[in-house]
Amino acid sequence: MNINGDGISSINDAELFAKKIVKLIKENQQLRKYIWLNHGCEITSLYGDDGQMQCGKCMIDFKNWDVDIIIKNLLKKREI
Ligand SMILES: [Zn+2]
Repeated sequence: MNINGDGISSINDAELFAKKIVKLIKENQQLRKYIWLNHGCEITSLYGDDGQMQCGKCMIDFKNWDVDIIIKNLLKKREI
């Protein structure tokens, strides 16, 4: 962010920053959905009503859990 008192560039910086955040959020959602659909459990185990992305078999919540927790659980699942 530009904090030099130049209102115009600060607004432009803020808009660019906001656009980047929105893009990152969308990409995060796309990747979570891809991993949820392709993590190896049967499609019948997946719960996706109301925008949720959960698996009833391995009990991972792909929408709400932190990514590092999802990855730890996926790695544990592979070891079984
Ligand atoms: Zn699963």
